Amino acid sequence: ADADSGLTRGQRVLAFPSEFCGRCDYCLAGQQPYCRNISIIGEQRHGGFAEYLSMKAHNFVPIPDDLSWHEAAALPVGHLTAWRQVFGKHPVVAGETMLIIGIGGGVALATLQLAKIAGCRVIVTSGSDEKLARARDLGADETINHAREVIWQRVREMTDGRGAEVVCDNVGAATWNQSLRAAGWGGRIMVVGATTGGQPPADLQRIFVRQLQIFGSTTASMEECRQLMRLVAQGRVRPVIDSVYPLDRAQEAFDRLERAEQFGKIVLDIP
Ligand SMILES: [Zn+2]
Repeated sequence: ADADSGLTRGQRVLAFPSEFCGRCDYCLAGQQPYCRNISIIGEQRHGGFAEYLSMKAHNFVPIPDDLSWHEAAALPVGHLTAWRQVFGKHPVVAGETMLIIGIGGGVALATLQLAKIAGCRVIVTSGSDEKLARARDLGADETINHAREVIWQRVREMTDGRGAEVVCDNVGAATWNQSLRAAGWGGRIMVVGATTGGQPPADLQRIFVRQLQIFGSTTASMEECRQLMRLVAQGRVRPVIDSVYPLDRAQEAFDRLERAEQFGKIVLDIP
């Protein structure tokens, strides 16, 4: 690292996953996710699944001593995305009811953790009773098994007919209609992914009649990263790690991901 980077040789750091230029108007405004020259590891640039990584010094964030390498690897994308959707757009208010569609993935679990810290009542859904039980252990207040229950009907029952103030949906086409119907009057729907497809019917009547607000969000700013790392340093946030595979068994890790068996992050280890 350069002498003026603030980093020292041998220091333990994690990589902020979006390389930003630091010079464009968005970067100068502190909105690194909008950087005109952004380059995300695994999308526009290499650096994932690698032993060494070369990035600008401003992309490296010091980590606390008690955060393991596996935890540090599992933290950024899920928790940064979760942070911005919970606090960075329309911050949640303690006591609000949040519905998280599809618990088990890294972003959904990180969102559950942060929403609980913020004082929300959190309802989660899954098709797996085992995942729902584990989500309860992590603080979920209510669970819905969407394999045998209708999400929006259960949410209405759980909220005295009102619906949820906040709905977090990164599943997309398969659940969008449920999300719209589960949101209460003036409810906020956070879209941070569209795993099952990006073209569901929009149901515009419902959006304007119920005066819903729809927020798109992805990754986070360096300031949001700093805020997240403060909670990590306090020991109040740790990523949930599903399993660890050595790099030469990466295909097995992808197979597990594709079967949606994971609960938390799958980490690849380079021995
Ligand atoms: Zn920039």
